[in-house]
Amino acid sequence: MEKQEIIGKEFRCLDKGFVRLVDLMGNDSSIVQSARVSYGKGTKTISEDNSLIRYLMRHRHTSPFEMVEYKFHIRLPIFVARQWIRHRTANVNEYSGRYSIIPDEFYLPNPEIVRKQSKTNKQGRSDELIDATLANEFISDIKATQELLYEKYNNYLRQDIARELARINLPLSTYTEWYWKIDLHNLFHFLELRLHPTAQYEIREYAKIIANIVKQTCPMAYQAFEDYRLNAINFSAIELKILKEMLKADPLSPEQMVNFGLSKREIEEFITKIHKINNL
Ligand SMILES: Cc1cc2nc3c(=O)[nH]c(=O)nc-3n(C[C@H](O)[C@H](O)[C@H](O)COP(=O)(O)OP(=O)(O)OC[C@H]3O[C@@H](n4cnc5c(N)ncnc54)[C@H](O)[C@@H]3O)c2cc1C
Repeated sequence: MEKQEIIGKEFRCLDKGFVRLVDLMGNDSSIVQSARVSYGKGTKTISEDNSLIRYLMRHRHTSPFEMVEYKFHIRLPIFVARQWIRHRTANVNEYSGRYSIIPDEFYLPNPEIVRKQSKTNKQGRSDELIDATLANEFISDIKATQELLYEKYNNYLRQDIARELARINLPLSTYTEWYWKIDLHNLFHFLELRLHPTAQYEIREYAKIIANIVKQTCPMAYQAFEDYRLNAINFSAIELKILKEMLKADPLSPEQMVNFGLSKREIEEFITKIHKINNL
């Protein structure tokens, strides 16, 4: 897809958020063009361009991917922004709650994504649904608190308390906005981490939209990213030793794997990788 068709388009996310591509510098050709500076004049056809991009991705020759830059306008809840801002290799300019009045916009989760605490991932939610009545109570309670805190915020403003102070008790579910500019190499790093099933659902929803924008604007690079990073599996040196044994007639039991020096958790993760391979 041509960038003109996608620039300015608003992709809705969560209940009140969005992702909008503001500007884009470069495309698949820019990656190839810059790589050719280091390899001299070389390939020219589309299939050769594709092979070169795939070679660069496979061999972690990352700098040609930095020649492509994306600038997004994003509206997102503050708790998502807190996770997002940890990606330091981007340029950010955020809405100022000191300068402007914060709009009455808060994130409310859908009942179907209100889940129980995961028992296997201490940071995440499980697939287990919470009782529907409790989920609805939770959402109504959040909504009531948001309304109460916003009413208080408005009262503080009416009494001429400085905006920078009046806002300090607004909740993490408050929506904020920013411009976010990042090159494609670092964007792939962001996507790898934030598309992962262990990333929080809410940031994953944004990552999915951004991934789709990249897929449409740099299709060759995105395909290479999917093949060599996103959907690839790494094995540690110890896991490879076990794998070698497993490929023999008698597979190893988890108890035998302990002898190779893997912890219980590593064994679980390794078995998950093997299941992933078996399910391909
Ligand atoms: C599922 C998940 C759970 C997480 N949980 C937590 C948590 O509980 N607590 C928490 O605090 N964070 C947490 N994080 C954030 C995480 O630790 C990283 O800060 C975040 O993912 C950004 O990664 P990054 O530093 O690699 O990315 P970027 O900041 O984009 O950096 C990219 C790469 O550039 C290099 N780099 C950038 N800046 C510097 C620098 N100043 N010095 C040296 N090298 C640099 C590093 O090699 C880095 O990998 C979590 C992230 C995920 C995905």
